[in-house]
Amino acid sequence: QTGDVILETSGLELAYGAFKAVDGVDLRIRRGTIHTIIGPNGAGKTTTFHCLTGERRPTAGRILFDGSDVTRKPSQDRVGLGMSRSFQITSLFQTLSVRENLRLAAQGRDGAKALAFWRPVGARPDHLKVADEIIDRLQLGARADVAAGELSHGQQRVLEVGMAMAARPKLLLLDEPTSGMGIDDIPVMTKLIGELGRDYTVMLIEHNMGIVMSISDTITVMHQGKVLVEGDPRTVRNDPRVRAAYLGEA
Ligand code: ATP
Repeated sequence: QTGDVILETSGLELAYGAFKAVDGVDLRIRRGTIHTIIGPNGAGKTTTFHCLTGERRPTAGRILFDGSDVTRKPSQDRVGLGMSRSFQITSLFQTLSVRENLRLAAQGRDGAKALAFWRPVGARPDHLKVADEIIDRLQLGARADVAAGELSHGQQRVLEVGMAMAARPKLLLLDEPTSGMGIDDIPVMTKLIGELGRDYTVMLIEHNMGIVMSISDTITVMHQGKVLVEGDPRTVRNDPRVRAAYLGEA
């Protein structure tokens, strides 16, 4: 199935009054690829993600995910269909261990809800297995029993990606996974995302061009709410319109 389209948007639009943060965006994300969205500040990248995950209702257009029209479906239904977005550090349970965080994420929304209401959470063996597999994958074995809040910033960001993986998604959406990371941690995250590309379809928003160019199969450049250019890294790098957009000349 690799290569067929897992996610497709047509005419996606999100308007705030007269201002269109996302303005008629058509995307086709092929299964098994790393597809990165880049663009200058305010281009509409994060707003596009919000529409895809259901945090914002588009004002026009359609979103098809793995054969279903999800345009009007709530976020939790999209998670159920296999879409998962990376958590933010602020949504990690700081006092729980790395393993416990991943276990809760594997249990899904119900786990998080149970915790919020201080009800006991039943840890099923398959959830434990998923958590341990992800710990291996993230190379966090030595820190598995450490509280999330005790991890370095870089490790917390890696754990955020792991939390999204724990939902066992078909499509993983990562919004600036390297932001705020120190120079030493960036290669770790880059390698991790590159490896994830073997097992998942990954949609990425990223500002670090070194990372973008080295791991993306396809790059969509957004500018002022629209798709400006799309193609493989070489095509995008050589397109004068991309340079102009970043320099504010477009
Ligand atoms: P960045 O790289 O800075 O994160 P981005 O490409 O992710 O930028 P968005 O965050 O999607 O851009 O924002 C797109 C535009 O929509 C921006 O001009 C932003 O100010 C505007 N915008 C976002 N949210 C709202 C809102 N709730 N009301 C009005 N305008 C908004």
